[in-house]
Amino acid sequence: MTAGAKRSLVRCPAKVNLHLEVLGRRGDGYHEVRTLLAAVGVWDTLICEAADEGVTLEVEPAGVVPAGEDNLVVRAARELQRRSGTRLGARLILHKRIPVAGGMGGGSSNAAAALVALNHLWGVGAGSAELHAMASGLGADVPFFLVGGTAWGTGRGDELQALPDLPPWWVVLLPAQGPVSTAQVYASLNAPPLRPALPSPIYDWVRQGGELPLGSCRNDLEPAVMARFPDVRERLEALSSERSRLAMLSGSGGTVFALFADETGARACAGRCAGRGALVAPLLTREASRLRPLPGEETWKLPMSGSP
Ligand code: ATP
Repeated sequence: MTAGAKRSLVRCPAKVNLHLEVLGRRGDGYHEVRTLLAAVGVWDTLICEAADEGVTLEVEPAGVVPAGEDNLVVRAARELQRRSGTRLGARLILHKRIPVAGGMGGGSSNAAAALVALNHLWGVGAGSAELHAMASGLGADVPFFLVGGTAWGTGRGDELQALPDLPPWWVVLLPAQGPVSTAQVYASLNAPPLRPALPSPIYDWVRQGGELPLGSCRNDLEPAVMARFPDVRERLEALSSERSRLAMLSGSGGTVFALFADETGARACAGRCAGRGALVAPLLTREASRLRPLPGEETWKLPMSGSP
């Protein structure tokens, strides 16, 4: 990185889906869903430095995701350049810690962070509606990271209603050994054409508030993912504990998670899952998960690892 150049650092949180209903396949081929998304404190870090031209990306650890034009961070930068007409460039460094292709929205979070950081660094001045439009074009989960906290997603999951923060719950996450392709999971669903949503206790809760009916939370992708990856069931069993309030697959997998009322319960569960790469993290409030570019000198003082 160049001394004196304008730079900023953004911490990118992950997400879990506490509920995911597939309502059916739409005419355009996408699946219509209703989903309850919650930001969690597992973090990647994105460092952006303004450059006169060109966009370059370095990923650490190298090779964990492609660092070229396919990377969602580069795609976000290109989209912002295209929409704003800026000729400025950027040097980007992405430290990955969120499991890749694990249903935790890592790439989506990185893309949203790049939009926010470069909008600021390049002085583009794109407003919230413009950023949401760009985010939605980059992927169904990207807009969630502009909203953060807890949100209800409809459409492809990208039409979002911000919800009040959930209680300060914790999760234990058990990532899969390898990537799980979201596209393949949806393709294997063989979902019927779109049908009207049935009444649901979760939807009633979204409208009326009160206590989240955890017993009604479900992930309609779980059977399809379990059929292809039998170890999902085995990891869910490993997580099951009399203290967990919910244990399920996140998004299209392969990460499974259990929800706990407090950190102590979560750490005890993670202790029993030793050797399985368990991650322990809090659900994040909207404020804690806000994508916040930290400017200039402050970024030099922060550890470069993605740890909180
Ligand atoms: P989601 O839950 O949003 O469907 P995911 O968490 O299952 O996504 P990601 O980690 O976002 O999956 O990765 C999905 C795909 O995107 C992978 O094939 C990966 O190679 C590609 N990808 C591109 N850019 C990135 C990035 N910056 N970080 C992670 N993956 C990326």
